[in-house]
Amino acid sequence: MMQSSGKADMTRSAVLSFLGGHGPTSRADLARNLGVSPALMTQLTKDLLDQGLITEMEYSPSRGGRPARLLGLAVDAGDAIGVKVGMDHITAVECRIDGTMLRSATEPFDASAPSAVADLIAILRTFLDGSVSTRLLGIGVATPGNVDEQSAGTVDSTQLGWSRMPLGASLKAAFDLPVLVDNNVNALATAESLYGQAKHHDNALVVTIGTGIGAGLIADGAVYRGHAGVAGEIGHIPTVENGPLCQCGAHGCLEAVIGQQALVNIARQRAVLTANEGIDVLRDRADSGDAKAEQIFAEAGHLFGRALAGVVNFFDPEVVIVSGEGAESWRHWMYGFEPAFRSGLVPAKRGVPIAVETWQDDRWAQGAACLVLGTPFDEQGLSGVQGEWVRQRLADTAKAQL
Ligand SMILES: [Zn+2]
Repeated sequence: MMQSSGKADMTRSAVLSFLGGHGPTSRADLARNLGVSPALMTQLTKDLLDQGLITEMEYSPSRGGRPARLLGLAVDAGDAIGVKVGMDHITAVECRIDGTMLRSATEPFDASAPSAVADLIAILRTFLDGSVSTRLLGIGVATPGNVDEQSAGTVDSTQLGWSRMPLGASLKAAFDLPVLVDNNVNALATAESLYGQAKHHDNALVVTIGTGIGAGLIADGAVYRGHAGVAGEIGHIPTVENGPLCQCGAHGCLEAVIGQQALVNIARQRAVLTANEGIDVLRDRADSGDAKAEQIFAEAGHLFGRALAGVVNFFDPEVVIVSGEGAESWRHWMYGFEPAFRSGLVPAKRGVPIAVETWQDDRWAQGAACLVLGTPFDEQGLSGVQGEWVRQRLADTAKAQL
């Protein structure tokens, strides 16, 4: 066995994660993607092959030269728990290193209760008791609002009514596992860059529409968090002078005019919805061809298109990915969005592709698990000391197989 060092352990865990996330890959492509020499990669993959963690698979289709042997993940090298914290519910999932979801559970939760964190810990403890994993790498948590650092996990969220909530510290004290906490859209962007439509792009914009309007920025292959973890708050782009009050305290933010509650309010004013009907009914009406309901989505799409053109001009992504609960209604947003968006772009960006995700309710929690599963690629150190612990656990998996 080769002498183990911190750098080799990190690369070894990155090889496992890469094969988990990207599927069978040649040694040359692994070396290129992980930035190590072909000679070192040959040695690392030999160790992992000897340990039975990876396996040699079919040859890749020849592109003129000698066909290369592909390597794939042989055993389940580790799993992660992902937790989505909402105002009135908690969703927890258990995911394999390749992103496959093993199980999920949703429990009612009151974020505003004084016992909120203790309640969350109790729900999580029950979920962990049912774990099917032989090797858990850590717990990832996604919350609305701002998180100072993934490793510290102090949360400020007007939506949850939390101010300087020491969520990360409380979970670390309760469980003997690494804990990583981040904003829910940043977590979703991490999932997109590992397993989703941003997988092959170093610069991508992940936007979410739903209760809130948000964005996760993937810049040079990593999620860009900004100075205090606030980057990507496109929901608070000032949009309408003296417009409706936003939860941030300002008036006329994008989110306050095209978020779900705003669309429902408009629909009630126009008698498209009664006082008891909500966003699901509005979507159903639009789906069945109600012109007034379609109009509300198209107007939202128009405002969103103008705002997003400004963001794309500023950030220059290769692709824009639309996600979030509201993506289910995207075909209604699109009529207003496309003309406003394209005409607002600078000529060089006018062809930027829009990729729409098929929305699933577990997606936020899966994103949270990806905070843990993406750690081996965290060259910038966003995941801090908790991320180092995750990498250590992944390297230990390799040693335990000997
Ligand atoms: Zn606002």
